[in-house]
Amino acid sequence: MKTMTCKQLGGPCDLPHHGDTANVVIKAQDKHLNEIVSSGDDAHKSALQEMKGRWKHPVAGMGWYRKAKRDFAALPED
Ligand SMILES: [Zn+2]
Repeated sequence: MKTMTCKQLGGPCDLPHHGDTANVVIKAQDKHLNEIVSSGDDAHKSALQEMKGRWKHPVAGMGWYRKAKRDFAALPED
């Protein structure tokens, strides 16, 4: 199990996401961005837009995923 924060995934806060794989924490971050912005948070809006852009342009977004996965792999186990 490893922990990556919202901030480490390009967001503005220190909320930690826990998971065994990078995909789990990336999904948790996507969910966090959707939830917090729909609850009226402005600070996460640009991160949500970037996340949506990655879905629309998967090839261009791939670099971000690769980096997130590399960062995740470099983290120590909890
Ligand atoms: Zn956040």
